[in-house]
Parts: sequence; C-alpha cells; structure tokens
Amino acid sequence: GQPVLAVVGRPNVGKSTLVNRILGRRAAVVEDVPGVTRDRVAYDATWSGRRFTLVDTGGWEPDAKGLAARVSAQAQSALATADAVLFVVDATVGATDADEAVARVLHRSGRPVVLAANKVDDQRLEADTAALWGLGLGEPYPVSALHGRGSGDLLDAVLAAL
Ligand code: GDP
Ligand code: MG
Repeated sequence: GQPVLAVVGRPNVGKSTLVNRILGRRAAVVEDVPGVTRDRVAYDATWSGRRFTLVDTGGWEPDAKGLAARVSAQAQSALATADAVLFVVDATVGATDADEAVARVLHRSGRPVVLAANKVDDQRLEADTAALWGLGLGEPYPVSALHGRGSGDLLDAVLAAL
C-alpha cells in the first residue's frame, strides 16, 4: 500500500492543526484543550501528486508527571506502522523533557524523521527554530500550521523521507 507518515509529539504542539493543513481540510480534531484526538486516526493525503497515509496521534489526558513516558510510548507504538515520522515541536516553547524523550525514541528507531518547528507564525519567531537542532534529528523546519507558513518546504522534506 501507500507509505505511512505518523505525526507524533506532545499534546498541544499543533499536530492535528498540521494534519488539517496537510489535508487541506478540517478533518483532524483541534482543540484548545489538549488530549481530544483519539489515540490514532489515519487519513489519505496527497502532496505533489504523491499519496500517503497520514496518522494523527494523541488522545489522552496529559498529566504533567507521566507526560514524557506517555508521549514517548505513543511515539514508539506509532513507529511500528510508520515508514517515516513527522515530529512536531512547539518552537515558541523550545524542547521540553517530553520532546527530548521522544527524540531519543525516534533516534534509536533509525526511521526517517522530519522535525517540524511549529507555531512560527511570523519572521520574528524564526530565530527560535535553531535551538531545535539540539534534538539531534537534523534540520528543524519552521512552520505555522495555523497560517500555512513554511508548510510547502516541510512537505517537500516529508516526501523526500517517505
Ligand atoms: P495537538 O494536541 O498537538 O494535536 O495540537 P492541536 O492541533 O490540537 O493544537 C493545539 C493548540 O495550538 C490549538 O489552540 C491550535 O489552534 C494551536 N496551534 C496549532 N498550530 C499553531 C500554529 O502554527 N500557531 C499558533 N499560534 N497556534 C497553533
Ligand atoms: Mg491532536
């Protein structure tokens, strides 16, 4: 079948918003309250004439204490069925402990990873992106899932990874 891209990251970084941006419609559930997406939801996506399956993850109530373990376990299980991973980080917050835990899981997996530095809504925020090189997953792609800024370059990188 077509290649599978799993979208992983901690709650509220904008995974579902980015999924909707990629799909070009409001299919994935976006909420101001984190944890509304069901565990895993798959969609058919197309970019530059290539079709792939896009898997949105999430769907649990985050509690601060178990967050890093929970989100990295979810990344791990998403990896089982994914050909490549789109790892979403909130560039305005920077890399948290949970982000670093996910980065270790992804790094160990050897699977291709594209790192999205989300919520870079304007030029002024672009400087926040560089710090995410520290996750050791290569180039962070600045993007605004909300406004679409940078999503073309991000998707070109995704296609190269799939
Ligand atoms: P998820 O939990 O990772 O799936 O995150 P959601 O997609 O549900 O988004 C969580 C919150 O972040 C919502 O209030 C979104 O509107 C907001 N958000 C998502 N992407 C962006 C972005 O690029 N810029 C800004 N400013 N907010 C965003
Ligand atoms: Mg979500």
